[in-house]
Amino acid sequence: MLAGYKSVQEAMEALAYEDATPDQLDYASVLAGAPAHAYYGKCTYCGHCQPCVVGIDIATVNKFADLVLAQSEVPQSVREHYLALDKNAVDCIHCESCEPNCPFGVRISERMAQTEELFA
Ligand code: SF4
Ligand code: SF4
Repeated sequence: MLAGYKSVQEAMEALAYEDATPDQLDYASVLAGAPAHAYYGKCTYCGHCQPCVVGIDIATVNKFADLVLAQSEVPQSVREHYLALDKNAVDCIHCESCEPNCPFGVRISERMAQTEELFA
């Protein structure tokens, strides 16, 4: 879908994106304010859960897991990208220290265990 503008002002408001600060571009707070059922428990890959104590890129691991869950098998390309990560779900020590950082209530430790099985 192409965005359209009814006035110069609307166009200028859209262009303000280009000058926005990192805080203004962070969509997590907007999504976190959405109805609880919309995102709660689901990873939006925002990265707020970092740092992981063992260095797992949690958002990326979750993204690969969701790509697999959307299909009936693990695509070879996704497996290769997942295995190319420095750390993945196998490295999770299930400390749960990342979980309070997640604005969406994702049970990260549990997801890492599921993801380990998914790619086993
Ligand atoms: S629970 Fe796993 S993913 Fe979260 S900080 Fe601990 S080791 Fe990292
Ligand atoms: S687990 Fe939570 S904080 Fe981490 S990337 Fe996903 S939604 Fe964001």
